[in-house]
Amino acid sequence: MPPKAAALVRRRRGRIVEPAARADIEQLLAARPRRRDLLLEYLHAIQDAHGCLRAAHLAALADRLRLSVAEVYEVASFYHHFDLVGDGEDPPPELTVRVCDSIACALAGAEELLADLTQQLPDARLQRVPCVGRCAEAPVAVVRRFPVEHATPDTVCAAVADGRFEDSVPPCPTHAQAREQGAYAQLERLLRGELDAEQVLAEFERADLRGLGGAGFPAARKWRIVRGHPKPRMLAVNIDEGEPGTFKDRHYLEHDLHALFEGMLIATQLIEAERIFLYIRDEYAGARAMLDAALRDLHTHPPCPLPAIELRRGAGAYVCGEESAMLESLEGRRGMPRLRPPYIAECGLFGRPTLEHNIETLCWVPKILARGSAWYRGHGRRGRCGLRSFSLSGRIRNPGVYPAPAGITVRELIDECGGGMLPGHTFYGYFPGGASGGLLPAELGDLPLDFGTLEEYGCFLGSGAVIVLSEQDRARDAALNAMRFFAHESCGKCTPCRVGTVKAADLMQAPHWDAALLDELSAAMRDASICGLGQAAPNPMQAVLRYFPHEVQA
Ligand code: SF4
Repeated sequence: MPPKAAALVRRRRGRIVEPAARADIEQLLAARPRRRDLLLEYLHAIQDAHGCLRAAHLAALADRLRLSVAEVYEVASFYHHFDLVGDGEDPPPELTVRVCDSIACALAGAEELLADLTQQLPDARLQRVPCVGRCAEAPVAVVRRFPVEHATPDTVCAAVADGRFEDSVPPCPTHAQAREQGAYAQLERLLRGELDAEQVLAEFERADLRGLGGAGFPAARKWRIVRGHPKPRMLAVNIDEGEPGTFKDRHYLEHDLHALFEGMLIATQLIEAERIFLYIRDEYAGARAMLDAALRDLHTHPPCPLPAIELRRGAGAYVCGEESAMLESLEGRRGMPRLRPPYIAECGLFGRPTLEHNIETLCWVPKILARGSAWYRGHGRRGRCGLRSFSLSGRIRNPGVYPAPAGITVRELIDECGGGMLPGHTFYGYFPGGASGGLLPAELGDLPLDFGTLEEYGCFLGSGAVIVLSEQDRARDAALNAMRFFAHESCGKCTPCRVGTVKAADLMQAPHWDAALLDELSAAMRDASICGLGQAAPNPMQAVLRYFPHEVQA
């Protein structure tokens, strides 16, 4: 197109690209492809280089990707971790300190920490942020990317003074070291023909392996559905855990990475995936760098022919943990859940059949093949089968990630894994499945924890994020914290969720709750929200009305 005509087209599309901004974008992205699905990666690249996203850079990026400025702006403005700066506006201060104010950190004193840091770091930008996935080390403040665990005003200020701004995670064992310890043996059995696809799937069915990201859908059934749809097929690995109270995927990532890789490659072989995408939440900066290095090592020593593998970085949106929202984000769009059907197993990433799993599920794949389904099933209690990994936090001595038998109770978890309650605290209640999984009183502390065992009590296990409250806490405060989180994280697609969560949080601040109005609001959110966020948002609030009425009634 002649230059004059191109300029006319650009002006019509609302693009007036400043030469300096164009030069910046060219310098940053010249060697990278003009792929729309890489939009979030490019926004990260610009923000990492310039400290924020200026309107001029967004216009230049839109021009380079041949998108309208509106398409770039709507994505950039959707994700919490992007800092947009308009023409003539000042950039954010150089130092940002994020203080987690979700449930476990709130119990551990996040509000006091925020108040103190406001006094002590007047030049920093202090942000209250939702769960950063380190509930076992609450309270947590993140200085740029450096997580200060068990944070106090002094330790945060010391990190600032020392210039500790980066997160780091020790490298995982190399491929060669992992092989010496038995990694990739099951993949090799599959490649040698000692196992075939049907045997693998039958073993998972006998084990009753579930998707352990929260939904609990039988894994083998998912694999069979994807295999039943035409190629090319995709594999998407969900490392975007953001449920307040959940940090088990980070644990597996940092401690069992080769099990993830082996499970991922076994899945790839079985569904004949053409491409693999790993989507990791932006909060896990150190783990992302470690994962990036490990993927390079995997390419240097591939245990089998590898498909294209891409590591993608989220940008601070809880809703992207929902499977279809994650795919939208991978395609470079706002992370808004899709309407179903079609289901992603049939029409997922780029319209192709897609198998999506979280890390824990894939880590169990080689272990079950190595030890057998009977070994895995043999771990249940109270008639339940298998192992579940619990992220245990709150008022207990030893918070952490604990693989435990399905059907274990919260009292057993606290005593056998958590080392008991903290001194001076008495067990009062618990979230069995993070903020969305509802809230139960201590009197129901002997219920078996598993998929399907808590629904009649208005709760669910989800990703096994157990947060323990003591008599020094109020269930209503914890439920309000959860509702504010949902209001903050609602993607805005459905009115009952977008408006209902904000309205509910308002109503829950009253000393005495209007139960009839909250019931009506809950019904609208449950019936008319399209994804689990809006449908589950009322769970903790309803649990307070049902189990802790003394806290909210006149
Ligand atoms: Fe978005 Fe909420 Fe609707 Fe889910 S329920 S799609 S988070 S508005």
